[in-house]
Amino acid sequence: MSDTFFDLVPRPLPPLLSLVIPIFNEEEVLPLLIPRLREILNTLSCPSEVILVDDGSSDRSIQILLKESESDSRLKVLALARNFGHQLAATAGLDFSRGEAVILMDADLQDPPELISAMLEKYCQGFDVVYAKRTAREGETWFKKATAWAFYRIMRRLIHKDLPVDVGDYRLMSRPCLDALQSMRETHRFLRGMVAWIGFPQTSVEFIRPRRAAGETKYPLSKMLLFAWNAALSFSPLPLRLIFGAGMTLAIGSFSYGLFAMGATFWGLDVVRGWASSIAVTCFIGGTILVSIGLLGEYVAKIYEQVKERPLYVVARTKNFPPKA
Ligand code: UDP
Ligand code: MG
Repeated sequence: MSDTFFDLVPRPLPPLLSLVIPIFNEEEVLPLLIPRLREILNTLSCPSEVILVDDGSSDRSIQILLKESESDSRLKVLALARNFGHQLAATAGLDFSRGEAVILMDADLQDPPELISAMLEKYCQGFDVVYAKRTAREGETWFKKATAWAFYRIMRRLIHKDLPVDVGDYRLMSRPCLDALQSMRETHRFLRGMVAWIGFPQTSVEFIRPRRAAGETKYPLSKMLLFAWNAALSFSPLPLRLIFGAGMTLAIGSFSYGLFAMGATFWGLDVVRGWASSIAVTCFIGGTILVSIGLLGEYVAKIYEQVKERPLYVVARTKNFPPKA
């Protein structure tokens, strides 16, 4: 059974396969990644290019990339002017790719390049998106595993019912899918949600996510929380609806309490004793209003950043790309 309601149309291998790899301070990993990539690319039966996006690294990553690309014109280097973050670095690489099929992967070998041929096989069967699904994760703390588990399930609720769970950004996309993705120039990007929104026949290949080959994660908890927060707010008005619901519940509660207070006064019951509860209710309502305004402010800030229409990233330097026509 296919994973989709479309009829799959088989197709040949792409005339060119692009790999897009965002890189931020990966000097320890690059000497492992590049030989392994070369080895895999040599075994493929279609031509390929690798777009190595340096996301403003402050270590020796860019020097390594420039040196490696000297002798191999398949390796193309795109250096951004500063650190723009993984999602924007990936967007830059996708914009510069020319392949009929494009694969986005991490530099740290947590996305094993050995999956490329399995992904291409699915592409040839007619799928437009082939994502790599993690069946297990190696060498990650229970905390990272638990937060990742919760993250995917909450996002699925919030963002899109078709958002696959336990799937990162490692995926193959066909050119038509990528064209649709490139037409979405939103500032706050959550690529996997955007790809789920686009549709097209999608399927997965499964793998066990290995540990990082070397170096440290570039996604500490603070960055991960910011990523989840941005993903939720940029995709879904649900948080606004939730505060609206909370506001309604409070308003009904307060109104009923007001009626009760008036009745109590009317019937001459002791009314002074309610002081503590009225303070509590006032503080609660005040707090809720502030939280609601704060959340509204978050959305307004996102609109503000979007209407400026700044470029998503700035390219400082390129190497091995053909001159623009
Ligand atoms: N990365 C990037 N810019 C950043 C942070 C990370 O380009 O600001 C790259 C990083 O070099 C790696 C990929 O994004 O290739 C995923 O990062 P990492 O492996 O640190 O994340 P994790 O797998 O721990 O979630
Ligand atoms: Mg990683």
